[in-house]
Amino acid sequence: MPARRKVDWIYPLALLPALPAPAGSLATLRKRAKACHACPLWQHATQTVFGEGPVSAEMMVIGEQPGDQEDQLGEPFTGPAGNLLDRALAEASLDRGELYVTNAVKHFKFEPRGKRRLHQRATAREQAICRQWLAAEVREVHPRRILALGAMASKAVFGGQFRLTARHGQWMALPGGVMAMATWHPSAVLRTPDAGSREQRYRELVADLKRFASDKTGDD
Ligand code: SF4
Repeated sequence: MPARRKVDWIYPLALLPALPAPAGSLATLRKRAKACHACPLWQHATQTVFGEGPVSAEMMVIGEQPGDQEDQLGEPFTGPAGNLLDRALAEASLDRGELYVTNAVKHFKFEPRGKRRLHQRATAREQAICRQWLAAEVREVHPRRILALGAMASKAVFGGQFRLTARHGQWMALPGGVMAMATWHPSAVLRTPDAGSREQRYRELVADLKRFASDKTGDD
């Protein structure tokens, strides 16, 4: 496969980071992000959960923020949501090893409740500050296709007005020739209360992943 030419940097995501994207290669960024104290979320989390995957990946998958197990292991999409994503990717014939997988926010946010740590959503300000790392990952990987999982990632990619329920599974063009779509976050599938609706949402996730896997980026 011919090497992809690195184009001039055009930040393709709708929401700009509150801070400039740090410079450096992916390896340098991963190292620097380990010591990030730019917002308060690092204080109680175990570690930074940076993105993973080949720098040559043509497809980037963006989730929301690390959960309890990701925080402990330091890897994105582990635990129940990661297992469900792996199952859905396999059904869509997507190889996770070929994807660059990351989150919009890199530290776990939680509220202690006895021995448990209950997931809390990062504030809009925390998301905006952390987007510097996502911007740097997008710059270094410069994927041809981006998949946003869940509302937080979808809004970062497409803007604050984006409605996942209405637009999931639809290709949209971003600046710099990048094509992108959004779909359900695996955690949202798992949280769907009744079994029938949960199965339907899972099927929609797989159908969207199949469209994402396809080279057909028109709404055909
Ligand atoms: S959440 Fe993001 S911005 Fe905040 S400390 Fe962690 S890496 Fe830095």
